[in-house]
Amino acid sequence: MFRLLMLAALGYLLFFFLRIVLRRQQPRRPGPRKEVTTVRDPVCGTYVTMEDAIAGKLENGQKVYFCSMECLNRYRASRADK
Ligand SMILES: [Zn+2]
Repeated sequence: MFRLLMLAALGYLLFFFLRIVLRRQQPRRPGPRKEVTTVRDPVCGTYVTMEDAIAGKLENGQKVYFCSMECLNRYRASRADK
């Protein structure tokens, strides 16, 4: 009888932990998430997602991304100095 009780308790514990693990693995938002591309701010070196980044275009058409307008302006200023 005691063994059966132990087994029941163990089974319950296992079920309890499994539920926690399964809940953790669930995505926070339902549905497939689209790929997030991170870009590096050349001024401060911060990695920002493409969505949050401020895009700046170089003279040769190449795109550069910044974390804020401040960095974009600083980048432009540094290029103008040269
Ligand atoms: Zn920055």
